[in-house]
Amino acid sequence: MTLLVQKFGGTSVGDFERIKLVAEKITQSKKTGQQIVVVVSAMSGETDNLVAMAHKVAAMPDPREYDVLLATGEQVTIALLSMMLIDMGCPARSYTGAQVRITTDNAHNKARILKIDQEKIKADLQAGIVVVVAGFQGTDEHGNITTLGRGGSDTTAVALAAALQADECQIYTDVEGVYTADPRIVSNARRMERVTFEEMLELASLGAKVLQIRAVELAGRYNVPLRVLSTFKNGPGTLISYEDRKMEHQIISGVAYNKDEARILLRGVPDAPGFAAKILGPISEANIEVDMIVQNIALNGFTDFTFTVHQRDFKRTMSIISPLADQLDIREVLVDDKIAKLSLVGVGMRSHAGIASKMFQVLGAEGVNIQLIATSEIKVSVILDEKYIELGVRALHEAFGLDQEPLQED
Ligand code: ASP
Ligand code: MG
Repeated sequence: MTLLVQKFGGTSVGDFERIKLVAEKITQSKKTGQQIVVVVSAMSGETDNLVAMAHKVAAMPDPREYDVLLATGEQVTIALLSMMLIDMGCPARSYTGAQVRITTDNAHNKARILKIDQEKIKADLQAGIVVVVAGFQGTDEHGNITTLGRGGSDTTAVALAAALQADECQIYTDVEGVYTADPRIVSNARRMERVTFEEMLELASLGAKVLQIRAVELAGRYNVPLRVLSTFKNGPGTLISYEDRKMEHQIISGVAYNKDEARILLRGVPDAPGFAAKILGPISEANIEVDMIVQNIALNGFTDFTFTVHQRDFKRTMSIISPLADQLDIREVLVDDKIAKLSLVGVGMRSHAGIASKMFQVLGAEGVNIQLIATSEIKVSVILDEKYIELGVRALHEAFGLDQEPLQED
C-alpha cells in the first residue's frame, strides 16, 4: 500500500468551498486504496491577520507568545477539514503539532524540527483513518509551542514524509507545477515534468516561489520525492527528485530571475591578506546574507571587490560598509539597487560546454549589458540593469528552446 503526504497551502483552503474541494480530493485518493497524511496551512491571509494582531498589542511581541498566537491559524483548518471529511463518510482525525509530538528546537518563530513521533499516526493509518496534521508548528522539549518560519507548512509535510517513509510528498498549490520561466513574463513557459532537487534549489532561491526552500533541502537530504501540483486543476504537476538517467534529455531546465538585489562595488581595495574577511565579516555578523561575491586579480596593489545583497538589507549593509570603507582606506564605494539577477539553471551544464558563451551571445544580441557573471556547476548567473530583465528572460527562454517538449531518453 502506498503512503502519501498531501499538503494544502493557504489558498487551497482559503474558504469553505475550497476546503470542501480539498476534502473531495482526499476522499478520492483514499478510495484508490492509499494511506494519507494531510498537512494544511492556515486559511489564506489568516497568518498575516494574526501577525497584525500581535503588533497591535505589543511593539515587540514576545517570541514565545507570538508562536502561541500564530499556531492557532492552522488549528482552525485541521478541524474544519476533518469535520468535512467525516461528514462525507471518510474517517479522519486532526492533530496539532504538539499532539503528534513534532519536536523542534527552541528557536521561536524559526524553529527546526528535530523529531516526530510516528506511533499515533501509524496506528490511525492502519485503522484506515486520514490523519490531518497542522503545518508550521511543533513544540520544544519543554512543551512550548514553536513555529517554523513563514511558509513552514511545506517543511512540516516533508519532515512527516521523511519520518514515515512516504512514497511521495505532494504539495498542492494554486499553480500547476514548476515552470521553465515565470509564466507572467514568458507566455509559452512550460510546466516541467521533472526537475532535480539541486535545480529546484537554484530555481526556488531565484524566484520560482512555489516551495519553501528549506523544504526542498530537507526533501533532498532524506530523498523524499516531492511533487508540486494544482489543487484546482487535475494534472501530474512537477516531480522533484534525484537525477535519473532516464530523465528528460535536456541540458537547461529553466530561466530564473530575481529583481530584489542590490550591488555594492568597492573600488581600490588594498591587495593584502584578510581584506575580504574584514569586509564581509561584519556583514555576516549582522546576519545579512550575501549572494554574489566577485573579486579580480589586483593591479598596482589594489583590487575591486563587488558583492550583492537583498534589497531589503541594502540600507543596513551600507551603514556597515560606509564607516568600514573609511577605516580600511578603500578608495570609493559605488552602489546600485536597480539591478537584477538572471540565471540559467540545468544539471546538463555539467556535461555540455558552451552554455555560458551562448547565453552571453544571446544577451549581447539583444543589446543587454552584463555587469557581473558568476557560475556554479549547474547555473550561470548574470547581473543586469533591472529594466532589461524581462527582455533577458524571454530571449534566453526562446534561444534555449525551453518552450519545446524535451526528447525522452530510453
Ligand atoms: N500559515 C503559515 C504562513 O502563512 C505557514 C504556511 O502557510 O506554510 O506562513
Ligand atoms: Mg506556502
